Amino acid sequence: MTAEKKRVLVIGGGASGIAAAYFAAEAGAEVILLEKNEKLGKKLYITGKGRCNVTNNSDRQELLQNVVSNARFLYSAVSCFDQADVMQWIEAWGTPLKTERGNRVFPVSDHSSDILRALERGLNGRKVQIRLHAEVKEILQEDGHAAGIVLSDGEIIKGAAVIVATGGLSYPSTGSTGDGFSFAETLSHTITGLRPALVPLTAEESYIAEMEGLSLRNVRLTIPYGKKKKYSEFGEMLFTSDGISGPLGLRASSVVGKELENAPLPAKIDLKPALTEEQLDARILRLFSESPNRTFKNAVRPLFPASLWPVIVRLSRIPENKPVHEVTKADRLSFIPLIKAFPLTLTGTHGYREAVITQGGVCVREVSPSTMESKKCRGVFFAGEVLDLDAFTGGFNLQIAWSTGHCAGIAAAGSAD
Ligand SMILES: Cc1cc2nc3c(=O)[nH]c(=O)nc-3n(C[C@H](O)[C@H](O)[C@H](O)COP(=O)(O)OP(=O)(O)OC[C@H]3O[C@@H](n4cnc5c(N)ncnc54)[C@H](O)[C@@H]3O)c2cc1C
Repeated sequence: MTAEKKRVLVIGGGASGIAAAYFAAEAGAEVILLEKNEKLGKKLYITGKGRCNVTNNSDRQELLQNVVSNARFLYSAVSCFDQADVMQWIEAWGTPLKTERGNRVFPVSDHSSDILRALERGLNGRKVQIRLHAEVKEILQEDGHAAGIVLSDGEIIKGAAVIVATGGLSYPSTGSTGDGFSFAETLSHTITGLRPALVPLTAEESYIAEMEGLSLRNVRLTIPYGKKKKYSEFGEMLFTSDGISGPLGLRASSVVGKELENAPLPAKIDLKPALTEEQLDARILRLFSESPNRTFKNAVRPLFPASLWPVIVRLSRIPENKPVHEVTKADRLSFIPLIKAFPLTLTGTHGYREAVITQGGVCVREVSPSTMESKKCRGVFFAGEVLDLDAFTGGFNLQIAWSTGHCAGIAAAGSAD
C-alpha cells in the first residue's frame, strides 16, 4: 500500500507561489496551486519592461545589502536558495539566461514569457495541479492548524499546509490586491505600515512640468529626512510632469517614502557633482570671457540641457539679458549654489498603480525565518511580497520571491503530515 501524499495548497501563482509550489512538489507533496487570474504570473510577465530581470548575478552579501526592509530575516532563505540556484533552476527548465550591466539577469531572448514558460514546464514536470480562476476567500483552521481553504464559489479544498503567496498591493491590475494581508490579519498577524515603493515621487514646484521627460545623468540627489538621516546618491534621474522618477527617484521613494507620509521633504540636485564650487566658478568665468557682450542667459547655455536651462536662469534672479561683463561676483556666487543644489520639494508618491513594490506587510517577527511558517497558526506559510520585505531594483525583489517561495515550499511539504 502506498502512503498518501501530503497535500500543500499554494495561494497565488506569481513568482513566489510558483517557486513554493514547485519545491513543495519536488519535496514529495501533492500540490495545488490556486491562482485567481486566467493565467499564472501576470506580474512576472510585465517585469523588467517585459524582459524580466529575474535575479541579480552577485553574491549573497550584495543581495542582502540591496534589501531595504528586514534583510536579516532573509539570511536563511537566501543561504538555501541564492541567485546562482535560481539561475540554474530556470536554465534547467530550458530558458537560457544572460547577465547585463549591474549584474542584472535576463532571459537571452529578452522575453519574460520565456521565463514563464520555463516555470510552467517545471510545474508540469513536478506534477503540480494548477487551478486558474480560483480565488481563495478564506483559510480554514482546526485547533490552531491550517486545514484548507475556501474558494469564492464556496468550494472547500482540504490541505494540511497552506502557503500564502498573494503578493502586495502594487499594480493591482495584475491580481495583487492585498488579499494575503486580510488572511494574515484573520490569523492574528500584524501587518506593518503598507506603502507604495520604487515609485515616482511628486514635487510641488511648478517649473518641474517644463522639464518633463528630461533625463539627467551623473547627478547627485540628496534628501535629508528623519532626525539626522540623509538619502544621497549619484546616478540618473528623470523629471516627470509632476515630480521625479528614474533610478535615483525610485530608489529614493523606498528610503524616504515613510517620512513623506508625514510632511513634504526638501531635496537638492547637484547638477555638476564632479566640479567643486571653485571649479564651477572658473568654468563660468571662462564662458563669460569667451564673449563678454553676450547676455547672461546665452552665455550659460552650454552648461545645461535645453529644458533645464531657461528654468535655472529664471530661478537665478540674474536678469537674463544682462551682458556678462555686468554680471558681478555676487551674482555668480548666488548662481553657483543653484547648480550645486537645485531645489525641489517632494510631496508624495504616485501610489500603488505605478509602484514596483509594496513596502510593509506581514510582520517578519511573527514568521519563522528558516521555514516561513506562521508563528500564529501552524501549517500556514508566507512567501514573497506579502511579507514585510522589499529591495531596490536590479532583480533583488524577484530573488526575495524565489528564495522565500523555495523555503516555504520545502518546509510546507515537510510539515504537511
Ligand atoms: C512593473 C513592475 C516591474 C517589475 N520588475 C521587476 C524586475 O524586473 N525584477 C525584480 O526583481 N522585480 C521586479 N518587480 C517586482 C516583482 O514583480 C515582485 O517583487 C514579485 O512579482 C512578487 O512576487 P509575488 O509572487 O510575491 O507576488 P505577485 O507577483 O504579485 O503574485 C501574487 C499572485 O497571487 C494572486 N492572488 C492574489 N490574491 C489571490 C487570491 N485570493 N486567490 C488566488 N490568487 C490570488 C495574484 O493574482 C497574483 O498572481 C516588478 C514589479 C512591477 C510592478
